[in-house]
Amino acid sequence: MSFVSEFNSLQLDALTLRSLNCASNAARSSLAKSALSLADFAHLISPAASDLLEPLSRRSQQLTQQRFGKVIRLFAPLYLSNECINNCKYCGFSRDNPILRVTLSVDDVLREARALMEQGFRNILLVSGEHPKFVSSGYLCECVEALHQGVPSISLEVGPMEIEDYRPLVGAGADGLVVYQETYDRAIYADMHTSGPKRNFDWRLETPERAYAAGFRRLGIGALFGLADWRKEALALAAHADYLLRTCWKAQLTISLPRLRPCAGVFQPPTSMTDRDLVQLVCALRLMFPDAGLVLSTRETEALRNGLIPLGITLLSAGSHTEPGGYTGAGREKLHHTERGRIIELGASEWAAGGDALQATEQFDIADERSPGEVAQLIRELGYEPVWKDWDAALTAV
Ligand code: SF4
Repeated sequence: MSFVSEFNSLQLDALTLRSLNCASNAARSSLAKSALSLADFAHLISPAASDLLEPLSRRSQQLTQQRFGKVIRLFAPLYLSNECINNCKYCGFSRDNPILRVTLSVDDVLREARALMEQGFRNILLVSGEHPKFVSSGYLCECVEALHQGVPSISLEVGPMEIEDYRPLVGAGADGLVVYQETYDRAIYADMHTSGPKRNFDWRLETPERAYAAGFRRLGIGALFGLADWRKEALALAAHADYLLRTCWKAQLTISLPRLRPCAGVFQPPTSMTDRDLVQLVCALRLMFPDAGLVLSTRETEALRNGLIPLGITLLSAGSHTEPGGYTGAGREKLHHTERGRIIELGASEWAAGGDALQATEQFDIADERSPGEVAQLIRELGYEPVWKDWDAALTAV
């Protein structure tokens, strides 16, 4: 039994319709409840509840302060590699994109981590494309081992693996595993993921459970908003979170709400989610899952991030680079171009011309370009405490 069987019997279309047709009094009644069902959650993300955004955000704010104190935890992504064997229509790292790629050496990774630690970070998310040759479990283990001395909180956002491949990573000191389903709509998932192992929807959907079985104690899930109808996506995400809280109960759960950003390639998001929709969803998730961490990345603008800090968000990335070597220029000498997965050495073609300004291609553009120090200062100005370390530190800091 895994979430796949529960997911297959979910009445997602009916729940989405229920949300779209929800009347104002039904939304008010769900808002007043202390324990919410998935049907209540559908009411809270309804168009009718959009008119109740003020009381909704007030409750979300109260609950967040009750459970987390006035604390915002900061983390930074550290990109290890932008090699990838998958083609995902929305991602700049897709195998067929003619971009500059590199996989950092362990020394490069340490250099990047030191730069982040100098800025204050003690909570780092190691990110990479999916490429078993360049980004093997052994390579990831070496990176985690090297970092673990100085970085108490290490999470991974890498290609899904078997339980047996995850175990050594936990042993080396990684404690968090993040995997976004991207979209919970099977047809859109098949359309977006045109080649590579990522085409296997069920394998990806079961990844948090494999990670938990291997010993990870922080699990992160999310959907990439902009691919499918946001309400349907949010309902599936909430069902997934609910399942994980029931079955992987020793783990801390975080939920991320990334919206699509421009990247290499010519992809246009097929659906949209407005800022107001995003605020409503953050608040509804807080009411549904009072203890879940809610994550907001630098994909969002400064103004929106500032506004969401008091409303329910508990984790923020800051000063992010989404390319390997982005913090220090590490790995620049190993850059190469790939065309349809084939490596072209620099200078071997007009595509691969060298030059001092070269850097690996980023996964997506960021919108909030403030430094981590500036973000921390803003958090203080809002009356919150920025915390750079792990979850427990965040809880005991209040
Ligand atoms: S989303 Fe992930 S798997 Fe897909 S191309 Fe980008 S890095 Fe590769």
